[in-house]
Amino acid sequence: RKKPTPYDIDYKVLIIGESRVGKTSIIKRLNNEGFSESTISTVGLDFVNAFFNIDGVTVRLQIWDTAGQERFRTITRSHFRNTKGTVLVYDISDRESFEKLEYWVDNLSNMNLDREVVYIIGNKNDLESEREISYEQGQKFASRNLVKFFETSAKNGNNLQEIFKTLAFDILDSN
Ligand code: GDP
Ligand code: MG
Repeated sequence: RKKPTPYDIDYKVLIIGESRVGKTSIIKRLNNEGFSESTISTVGLDFVNAFFNIDGVTVRLQIWDTAGQERFRTITRSHFRNTKGTVLVYDISDRESFEKLEYWVDNLSNMNLDREVVYIIGNKNDLESEREISYEQGQKFASRNLVKFFETSAKNGNNLQEIFKTLAFDILDSN
């Protein structure tokens, strides 16, 4: 039997956004499960644990997937129970997924989450030739909503560890 990894603090994080933007692929990548071209959108994971050492403190981020419910707009308050962070994802090669961020931001503010750290991630930046949303557009939207912005790729793993380590740090810092 595998021994559980010890940690000092644990935080729940939720990853949301339109269907097919790569949410499940991102958390699989964080869980070192590699990348698959053919994920089935309705079959997600419940969550993965990612561990980060921040100034000698081991933080466990429990990162929750929405398991396809985002397609039916049935993400509710219960999904956000005890979350300390939310990662909002769009696909840089899909303008509609970016335009729908407005909906997700509204959804989030309706939850009245206290001290929630929110990040916006533009995923699939390996698809440069199919890009529909510039880095600057993403950045502008995020800064208008006072949240941090990053681009990444679940396909090549680009930045992902760093982004979630920064998130762990920001949550630690605000709690
Ligand atoms: P979800 O519905 O948001 O959970 O999205 P999935 O993780 O199921 O991914 C949807 C599709 O996009 C799948 O075919 C993935 O292989 C693909 N995908 C996810 N992330 C990336 C990425 O960073 N780059 C590329 N090229 N494809 C990706
Ligand atoms: Mg999914």
